[in-house]
Amino acid sequence: MVTDPARIHPTDEGHPEVCTVFSYQCIFSEEKKAEIEKKCREGKMGCVECKKMLHEKLSGLITPIRDKYKDLKKNPEKVNKILEDGNRRASDQASSNLAAFKKEMGYG
Ligand code: SF4
Repeated sequence: MVTDPARIHPTDEGHPEVCTVFSYQCIFSEEKKAEIEKKCREGKMGCVECKKMLHEKLSGLITPIRDKYKDLKKNPEKVNKILEDGNRRASDQASSNLAAFKKEMGYG
């Protein structure tokens, strides 16, 4: 991922406003945004450390989704049950909406 191209060494003063990693940090590490920006600008945090922080944050978000995917992949019956339940609920709702529509239009 592209960072500040003017930053050669971890102690160089950074420009987070041109850094893609910082854009992601603003979204996924909002609570640390000010700290990251300050450390970057003052050359107190290297890009590798910053990227590792982002990686850990994203992994924390993605791991439960990945685990759920693996679980569902091993249980196709569970997936079919979820789909059937969703299909039934959608069908019930559509029938209810259609009945209400017909009534309002004077067809019911
Ligand atoms: S320290 Fe982080 S915000 Fe600053 S340039 Fe490197 S990756 Fe970007």
